This record gives sequence, structure tokens and C-alpha cells, in this order.
Amino acid sequence: MSAKNHIILRVEGMTCDGCARHVTEALKKVPGVDQAQVASWKSGQAVVVAAPEVDEANLIDAVKQSGYRAVLREKSSLEGERRVPPAGGAEYDLMTIGGGSAAFAAAIKAAELGAKVAIIEKGTIGGTCVNIGCVPSKTLIKAAELCYHSAYPTFEGLTACPPPSDWQRVVQQKDELVTALRENKYVHVAEMYPNIKILRGEAKLLGGRKVAVNGTTFSPRKILVATGSHPWAPPIPGLEEAGYLDSTEALSLEALPESLIIIGGGAIGLEFAQLFTRFGVKVMIIEGGPQVAMAEEPEIGDAMVTYLEGEKVRVCANVKIKKVERSDGEYRVHAEIRGVDEICRAKQLMVAAGRRPTTSGFGLEEAGVKLGKRGEILVNEHLQTDNPDIYAAGDCIGDPMYVYVAAYGGGIAVENALNGAGKVFDLFALPRVTFTDPQIASVGLTEAQAKAKGLRVESSVLDLKYVPRALAARNTRGLIKLVAEKDTGRLLGTHVLSAEAGEVIQEATLAIRFGLTVQDLVETFHPYLTMVEGLKLAALTFKKDVGKLSCCAA
Ligand SMILES: Cc1cc2nc3c(=O)[nH]c(=O)nc-3n(C[C@H](O)[C@H](O)[C@H](O)COP(=O)(O)OP(=O)(O)OC[C@H]3O[C@@H](n4cnc5c(N)ncnc54)[C@H](O)[C@@H]3O)c2cc1C
Repeated sequence: MSAKNHIILRVEGMTCDGCARHVTEALKKVPGVDQAQVASWKSGQAVVVAAPEVDEANLIDAVKQSGYRAVLREKSSLEGERRVPPAGGAEYDLMTIGGGSAAFAAAIKAAELGAKVAIIEKGTIGGTCVNIGCVPSKTLIKAAELCYHSAYPTFEGLTACPPPSDWQRVVQQKDELVTALRENKYVHVAEMYPNIKILRGEAKLLGGRKVAVNGTTFSPRKILVATGSHPWAPPIPGLEEAGYLDSTEALSLEALPESLIIIGGGAIGLEFAQLFTRFGVKVMIIEGGPQVAMAEEPEIGDAMVTYLEGEKVRVCANVKIKKVERSDGEYRVHAEIRGVDEICRAKQLMVAAGRRPTTSGFGLEEAGVKLGKRGEILVNEHLQTDNPDIYAAGDCIGDPMYVYVAAYGGGIAVENALNGAGKVFDLFALPRVTFTDPQIASVGLTEAQAKAKGLRVESSVLDLKYVPRALAARNTRGLIKLVAEKDTGRLLGTHVLSAEAGEVIQEATLAIRFGLTVQDLVETFHPYLTMVEGLKLAALTFKKDVGKLSCCAA
């Protein structure tokens, strides 16, 4: 296999798509360049695949000749020495079934190891996260947040937000972002790796190592199943007949409904409830469990209810749904709420009751791959299934379903499958974020989980009114809860409800991962007037009354 170099240049001076084209053309003309691309002028970078004899100085010079400036950012060997055993006559070392985040992480890792890879995708390349998950939901949430806060520049005491003048334009902007990210982060990235081929079509496993796609049968050396998940709805009488929105459909509504009932008060249900109420929709959340945000500390679930109710969302937990009906353009959810029968009415109904692995109908059982109760692929700690040539990663192996878990799993699976690396899929200290406002972010054990493990624990809860950053921003909505081992002070869990809690949680993630104590947090410098300083203050609360501290919490 001939070695190629993968070179990234930082390009300065580009101000439009035309500039991006000029730079691309200039780079393509340099002898020995196989591929050159400036995905967008805004990216400020050019990616080049070139023969090893191509000197980066020539590339920089070519950019200069076209009127821009460039410096070398990164250079690596793309398909240097083959670092995986030969495929034994197989056309591909690895085939991934699915072309989402787990598959792409796996394919890139495999290509870096010198392997030949095929990604088989039956739907839209990029899978859930970029097309119908993280990216579109978070950009709509941000749009709703901006609309809300611009209507009420002083954050405390928020009440209601007038609907934006043009929902369709907001959806269109969301679609533009999705398209751009899909192209830049998936399609063009794949093109940069000559070892990766994308095959469009539905894959079927035929047993052993055989994979059929579009009438052709392949026998790759290893297979990675990365087929993701799909929305799930509970078996409620009348629900299927009445019809409902899932998260994918809710992200692309042509018009905003006047009112909406959301069944499910988990991360997706909460995010969509706040998103729609901020766009002026009358929203009700119906949750079957004892609290919304079930995975979180009860203090956080309770506070979140208060904030949502402050934005006119009706939140009901512990609800038994008896049936769903739809007629005359109205949904009626017959439910028992706090022991009282009630008919809840709305113009639209959304179900956000979780997702299930996509694992049926493409031959897993025939290939000797076993499934669990929820349809998840059963894997060992190396992500290998019961068929030793088939590995699995991402949502298809079940919870926790996050894109960073999928990508991590894809990489681990490939190293184990192709090189026998024996790497263990280890989710210790896995942070999670719910993108409400304020955000919910957690890592480690809740107090109840720690006690259930038989640990002697202590906890502290800090109201954000003690955090200077929150005071200065006039947004003291939220709290921080720390859970620690009583005898050693080792931090076991951190639970944050605050603006940008998703950023704050990363310090706690490192602390838990590396076994730090509450005292370590106290003794570490935290810049004044940052939200993360709240972690230090929460750590101090184990021993001191923070109300009596001076503002810098020394
Ligand atoms: C609304 C929403 C918001 C989310 N927000 C976040 C967030 O903020 N942060 C976060 O970390 N995670 C978030 N997630 C979860 C995240 O999107 C997923 O965990 C992640 O995308 C899963 O990646 P994957 O590679 O396992 O599967 P996917 O990305 O779903 O890829 C699977 C692919 O396999 C294809 N496929 C299936 N069967 C076959 C077959 N037989 N042949 C060929 N192709 C096949 C499918 O078409 C699909 O494209 C969100 C999810 C949703 C729904």
C-alpha cells in the first residue's frame, strides 16, 4: 500500500466561498496532490491528501500565490505501513453496518491502521446525531433561548415569550446547519480517506462473515454493527391509531401547534417541552415515573419542574395513562393524575419515552448474534458479539445512548477486532447533559445509587444564589450537589443544574475519573466569577456555611 500524507493547513485571508474555491484549485495544481479541499471559507483550513514527496512548503507557497496565507497545522501518514494483519483475500478488512457516529469513528480508526473499510448506510449518511438528533435539537433549543431571553433581558422571573415571527425560517436555518455539518463532518471526511468506501443500501447478514448489500455478497475480515436506535412508544391503548409525533417529526414541524402534550419527562421530553413553550406553544408533560429527569437527583428534578412551570409548562409525574383518542383535530389523553381521572387535551401529541436499538430484520440472529430484552446487541467488554467476527457499538448495544459513547465504542471495537488490542469498553466517569435552560449535567453516582452500593456517603447541596457568577449574571436558577465518600472524602458524584452546566461538569468528570477528593476541589484555584467556581463552593459547604464566606471563597 503506498503511503500518503494527510496535511491540514490553516489558511488566512479567505472571506467568501470564492476564496475557498481559489485556494482549493491552487492546492490541487501542486504536483503529487491527490485531493485538496476547503470545506468552507469559514473553517479557515484546507485539507490535503498528497504523496509523501510533496513538501508542505510547496503547498504553502501555492496558497500564497493565490493571494492568501497558510501555515502547517497538522501532518500525518494516512495509510502508511499496514498496521493490521492482511485481510486473507477479503476485499475489505472491515465493513460497518450503519453510517452514523459509531461507524465513522470506527472507519477512521481502521483507515488510520491501514485497513480497507466499507461503510454501508441505508439512510442518510451521518446517522442520528447530525441529522435528527444532537445537532438539530440543540440549534432549535438555542434559537428558542435567544428568543426568550431577548424578550426578557433580565433573566430572573421569566414568564412567557411571544412566538417568533417565523418558525419556518428557524427550521430552514436548522436544516442548513445540518446539511453543512453532514457534508463537512461526514461526507467530506470520508472522501479524505482513500481506504474508506461508502456503499449505499441496506445490509443483510447471511451468517458467518457474509454481508449482502444491493445483491452483492462480501466476506470482510471483520464486521461492525452500528445500526443505532429508533424512537419507542409505550403500548398505550389508542396511541397507534391516534398517531403521534416522535422527536424526528417534532424537529421539522411545518407549523407550530397551538398546544402540545409530551409523553415522557426524560432528557428529550424536557428539552422539547422548553423549546416549544418558548416558541409560544402551550405545553404539558406527562411522566409515568415519580419525577421528571428520573436519572437525576430528586432536588434537580424538583427544581426543573419549578422552572418549567414558571414558563407555563404543566408538568405531571406519576401519571397513569389509560388511553389516547383523537378526533376533530384534537388529542385527548385519558389519565389518572394524583389519583384523579382527567382528560388532557391538546392539538398535538409527542411521545418521548425513550429509544430502542435497531437490531431486527437484517440477519443478526442468523449470524449468531444474541440480543437482550430490549433488543440490544449483547457484547462482551471488548464489544465482541457471540459471533467472534462481529463487533457492535453505539446505540444498538443499548444504554447509555450518547454520541460520544457511540464514537468511543466504534474506536475500541475496531482496535479489538482488527488488531486484537484487548481494549475494554469502560464507561467509568461518564458525564451526561440535558440541554434545558438551566442545563442539567451529572457525572458519577447519585446519593441513592452510592448508598445502594453500600457506601457511607455524605452530600452537600449549594444553591446558586451563593455563586458569584450566577449573581452577576442575574440568573441564580439552579443548584450543585456533590456526593462524597464519608471516610475518605473521595468525590463519587456531581450533579449540576445551572447555566452552562455542561461545561462545569467536565472538571467534576476529571475529579471523579482520577479519584480526587472534596478537599482537592477546595484546594484547587478556581477563577473568580466563573460558574465552575460553584464546584469549589459546593465542596466548601461540606465543612463551612458558605453564607459566611467572603466573595472570593478563600
Ligand atoms: C433528539 C435527539 C437528541 C440527541 N441529543 C444528543 C446530545 O445532545 N448529545 C449526545 O451525546 N447524544 C444525543 N443524542 C443521541 C445520539 O444522537 C446517538 O447516541 C448517536 O447518534 C448514536 O450513534 P450510532 O452511530 O450508534 O447510530 P446512528 O447515528 O443512528 O447510525 C445508525 C445508522 O445505521 C443505519 N442503518 C440501520 N440499519 C441498517 C442496515 N441494515 N443497513 C445499513 N444501514 C443501516 C441507519 O440508517 C443509521 O444512519 C440525541 C438523540 C436524539 C434522537
